[in-house]
Amino acid sequence: MKVSRLRKYAKLIARMGANVQKGQDVYLYGSLEQPKFIEMVTEELYKLGARRVHVKWQYSEMEKYHVKYQAEDTMAAVETFEEEELKYMRDHLPARVFVDSSNPDALKGVNVGKMMSAQQKRAPIVKPYRDAMNGKHQWTIAAVPGKAWAKKVFPNERPAKAMELLWEAILQCARVDEDPIAAWEAHNQDVHDRCEYLNGLGLTELHYQASNGTDFTVGLMEEGVFAGAMETTKSGVTFNPNMPTEECFTSPKRGVAEGIVYSSLPLSYQGDLIENFWLRFENGKVVEAHAEKNDERLQKMIAMDEGAAYLGECALVPFDSPINKTGLLFYNTLFDENACCHFALGRGFLECVQDGHHKTREELAACGLNDSMIHVDFMIGTADLSITGKCRDGREVEIFKNGTWAF
Ligand code: ZN
Repeated sequence: MKVSRLRKYAKLIARMGANVQKGQDVYLYGSLEQPKFIEMVTEELYKLGARRVHVKWQYSEMEKYHVKYQAEDTMAAVETFEEEELKYMRDHLPARVFVDSSNPDALKGVNVGKMMSAQQKRAPIVKPYRDAMNGKHQWTIAAVPGKAWAKKVFPNERPAKAMELLWEAILQCARVDEDPIAAWEAHNQDVHDRCEYLNGLGLTELHYQASNGTDFTVGLMEEGVFAGAMETTKSGVTFNPNMPTEECFTSPKRGVAEGIVYSSLPLSYQGDLIENFWLRFENGKVVEAHAEKNDERLQKMIAMDEGAAYLGECALVPFDSPINKTGLLFYNTLFDENACCHFALGRGFLECVQDGHHKTREELAACGLNDSMIHVDFMIGTADLSITGKCRDGREVEIFKNGTWAF
């Protein structure tokens, strides 16, 4: 890939993604597979005035050994130095930049039960720090190709060719063309306008219908808001958490969801593909679910904790999105979730509640926001999906028609 184009991408991540402020610290979680690119991002972050960039190299191939060889208690322990680092992050609110190239199969064959149970045990210590940072600092996730990932997406190509094709797909989806900053400003505006429109309707529920059998109604919170693309921290700094991003999303009201939804894309979850599945909801909760492939994985995910069987996200993405147009399955949620409409099981977003940043966990729960350790997106959008909204004043509004915006 041309260095000049990569430089544009690095600049885009630093400026539109993290929007690092003068004097701010940064944690850069950079893929070891692309050191030259991480070097560019580091330079761009400093050029914006970062005080210090902590680079944390990531290499997904190593993860499985930790799970295989560590005792569960070791995995579950939050060591003193780790907690000190969490405190530092809570107090200093560094921007966090993730440049990911994980092998989708990196965790294949590991003992997932052990991994999940260790995560559960860490949560009581780690989660309060994460909650305390929520909404107060900028963070962004972008991707670069890794060898195993590229080969997974393009199994029939030679390694070098597969890498090049994945670069091209990533840069296309991230709108890295002539002037990526201008392209993102326009895109942010479009998503913002659509969210404004949706928020003005006073929606109480959405009804989904598609020929694959999806017939599903989900309730929305009275204080719920649709958000998308650019976000703003409590202190007023804008950033783009996901590059790419195509969705207008909200968190549905916990306890209000009826009917059945069918997946439209395989779900790549912790090293496995859960395929051709459906979920049936009653009173907002999954009461029955089945996957043709890796059903056991799906069942475990839903049973992860109390909130894992409830919805945390409802996202509207046109079926003709740039991601879907590539025709690729990326085996990576950052891309695949932007291909079409999706839901997520688990944790809801506080930015999807009016004034959510200033509400306590209890107040958010009272609004109907779900909480869980997990947040897992799954795709349900099809070319014939229609979504009708019901408004507080009794009106019915067409939101989606033939898989895309009806307005
Ligand atoms: Zn989403």
